[in-house]
Amino acid sequence: MSVDRYAVIGNPVAHSLSPRIHAMFAEITGQELEYFRLHSPTDGFDRSVTEFFDDGGQGLSVTAPFKSDAFRWVDQTDPLAQESAAVNTIARRNGRMVGYNTDGLGLVQDLRRLGWLAKEVKILILGAGGASGGILGPLMREECRVTVANRTESKLSNLKERFPNLSTVPLKQVEGQWDIVINATSAFLRKQSLNVNSSIMFNARCYDLGYQPDGLTSFVVESRRWSAREVSDGLGMLVFQAAEAFKFWRNVELDAEVLSKVLSSMRS
Ligand code: NDP
Repeated sequence: MSVDRYAVIGNPVAHSLSPRIHAMFAEITGQELEYFRLHSPTDGFDRSVTEFFDDGGQGLSVTAPFKSDAFRWVDQTDPLAQESAAVNTIARRNGRMVGYNTDGLGLVQDLRRLGWLAKEVKILILGAGGASGGILGPLMREECRVTVANRTESKLSNLKERFPNLSTVPLKQVEGQWDIVINATSAFLRKQSLNVNSSIMFNARCYDLGYQPDGLTSFVVESRRWSAREVSDGLGMLVFQAAEAFKFWRNVELDAEVLSKVLSSMRS
C-alpha cells in the first residue's frame, strides 16, 4: 500500500529543513508518510502543484517565493491565510484544496520561547513578501507596535490596505532604535546583500526568519557585529509552524516538550 505523500515547494528549496522535521514528527507519532522537497520553476507554480496533487499528494508546505501564488491557487482559505493573502500550507480536504497560514503562529510561539514578546514592544520587520504578510496580524494581536520596511514601496501600500494601523517605511530610509528587528527578506537566501542601515541592529533583539542548523545565518552574524542585544535564527519558528501544518494534515498535536526535543536535535 502506498503511503501519504507531502512535500515543501519552493525555489530554491534544497536548503529546506522541513523534510527532516516532518520525518521526526512522523516517527515520534507513529505516522507513515513520505515528505520531500519539490523544486518548481518560478513561473511554473500552478503546473508543479497541480501535478503533485493529481499524482495523489496529500499536502504541501509552501516557501519563498510562492506564498502569494498559493493563496491565489487554492479553493478556499482559513482566516489567517485570508488576512495575510499568503498561504504556507495546503491540505486536500474532501477533494478541495484548502490554504492555511501557520507562519505567524510559529513566530509568536518562538518569540515566546525566547522570552522576547511583550505588549508594546517596538518591532521592525524587514521585507513585505509572503512571510511578512503571515506574521503581521499575529504580532499586532499581541499588541506589538509593528513597522514594515521594504525595498519595493508598492508592496508597502498593499500591506497598508490590509492593515490600516501598520507603520511602513522604505527600506533605504529605515533608522532609529528598535526592541526587535526581524529579517523577513529572502536577500541572503538569494545570496544578495541587504542594503539597510546596520545601526538599527544596535542593542536590538535581532531575529532572522532564515535558518541553519548552527544558527549562524548571515543576518545573525551581521547583527552580532552591530552589537545586537540578543540574536536568533528562525529554526524554532520553522519547527512550530511545521507542527501546526502537521496538525492540519494528520489531525495529531505535538506537545511543547516534544517540539523542544525536535528543535534541540535539529541543532546537532
Ligand atoms: P518572498 O519571495 O515572498 O518575499 C521576499 C522579500 O524579500 C520581499 O519583501 C523582497 O523585497 C525582499 N528581498 C529579496 N531580496 C532582497 C534584497 N536583496 N534586498 C532587500 N530586500 C530583498 O519570500 P517570503 O516572504 O516567503 O520568505 C522570506 C524569507 O523568510 C525566506 O528566506 C524564507 O526562507 C524565510 N521564511 C522562514 C520561515 C521559518 O519558518 N523560519 C517561514 C517563512 C519564511 P521586494 O519586495 O523589494 O522584492
